[in-house]
Amino acid sequence: MTSVVVVGSGFTGFECARRLQHRLRRQHTDVQITLISPIDYMLYTPLLPDVAGGLVDARFVSIPLAGTLDGVRVIRGRVDTADLTAHTLGYTDPEGRTHELAWDRLVLTPGSVTRLFDIPGLATYARGLKSIAEALYLRDHFLEQLELAGLDSDPSVAAGRRTVVVVGASYSGTELVVQLRALADAAARQMGFDPQSVRFVLLDLAEQVMPEVGAKLGKAAREVLRDRGVDVRLGLTLKEVQANHVVLSDDSRIDTRTVAWVTGVTAAPLIETLGLPTEKGRLKVGADLRVPGHPDVFAAGDAAAVPDLTQPGTITPPTAQHAVRQGKALARNVAASLGFGTSKDYRHRNMGLVVDLGPRKAVANPLNIQVSGLPAKAVTRAYHLYAIPRGVNRWAVALAYLTDLIFPRTLVSMGLASQEDAQFSTSEGIPMLKAD
Ligand SMILES: Cc1cc2nc3c(=O)[nH]c(=O)nc-3n(C[C@H](O)[C@H](O)[C@H](O)COP(=O)(O)OP(=O)(O)OC[C@H]3O[C@@H](n4cnc5c(N)ncnc54)[C@H](O)[C@@H]3O)c2cc1C
Repeated sequence: MTSVVVVGSGFTGFECARRLQHRLRRQHTDVQITLISPIDYMLYTPLLPDVAGGLVDARFVSIPLAGTLDGVRVIRGRVDTADLTAHTLGYTDPEGRTHELAWDRLVLTPGSVTRLFDIPGLATYARGLKSIAEALYLRDHFLEQLELAGLDSDPSVAAGRRTVVVVGASYSGTELVVQLRALADAAARQMGFDPQSVRFVLLDLAEQVMPEVGAKLGKAAREVLRDRGVDVRLGLTLKEVQANHVVLSDDSRIDTRTVAWVTGVTAAPLIETLGLPTEKGRLKVGADLRVPGHPDVFAAGDAAAVPDLTQPGTITPPTAQHAVRQGKALARNVAASLGFGTSKDYRHRNMGLVVDLGPRKAVANPLNIQVSGLPAKAVTRAYHLYAIPRGVNRWAVALAYLTDLIFPRTLVSMGLASQEDAQFSTSEGIPMLKAD
């Protein structure tokens, strides 16, 4: 039996396994597809800010592999090594046992992890937004701080508890800050404190908010942030993080106990272990998504440097939009390598971006048509409901949106994700990259 092993259950690996299974089923072949991942779901990351803001439940954005990948063998494990000559890989299961697996075709889609810098205290006190554990931790921790602030006798301590610092003003950091603002507004109404007493600071080294949406929409987003009372500080980052304050690169100090680090990603650690050529830390592949010199090994998504044929000389950015389409291209090209169909180079023109800016606000540029306000909100929500790859999850998210329109937001911290669970990388099921 021929064995195809897909590493990772993100947008790329999930789409590849699903499409490949469909293609091969039609051919009645003797091919076993195995997907190996430390988690048993595909995470719809674009809605993680909604999870952190208490708008959408964590399970609604988790697409289970069971029941959606019929015919694919799923192994719960973290791949530690891949021997591209012997055609084997080594993985560790959730109980710490190590195993070896043979393959005829290897598809590497381990995605990315939060990019960290050597900033004192960052890994200890800040948290990212790449996993369910991190989103739940931010929600629960922030709510707890708001509750504790109401009991503090020292006003300066209370003010620190009511301050949130988000680092990274790209779309995910911006969406996070507005969702936490909406959560704080709901808490103020239900707990009875002044919403203006909750302070949000959004930092970025860049000179523009969300450069990915262009100057016009970036400006529109900036206005929404201003209206929502978010203090945007550009050209700045963190110099130091402590349990109760941060120091910025201009040496100013902000008292806070909630710091989110959403500045960007780097390829999953597995890529570095391969010892193969990389570009910007991502594994180099050809336009057909094959790893040069290894015709049986394919890679794509955030972990791979896929040439962007629509802009020669560049690589595709790490977005879900590319990841899903690359998963589809992988399925086609892996099937072709097994003798079914023909291989095709990956080519995809950017279809634009949608950015949810909290209640009634959004900016979007679908097919490069720039929209903001309520029309953008409708496009943004419709897009996510279309893009979530499972009917049950779509239904649950739609109901969550409807519920939020009709009822006050539910304010409960379930305490399921501890500060340790939500550590960078640990929460993503992969070993810690760098600690303080
Ligand atoms: C908060 C947030 C919001 C975002 N919003 C958008 C958006 O609105 N639009 C957009 O286009 N993009 C968005 N993105 C980017 C998008 O999520 C990524 O580009 C996309 O997830 C990449 O898909 P992937 O399959 O390459 O990697 P991932 O989705 O990161 O999946 C990688 C998978 O590999 C697994 N894995 C990792 N290491 C190993 C290993 N050693 N062994 C086995 N399995 C492993 C992981 O557990 C995971 O299942 C957002 C990202 C974040 C974090």
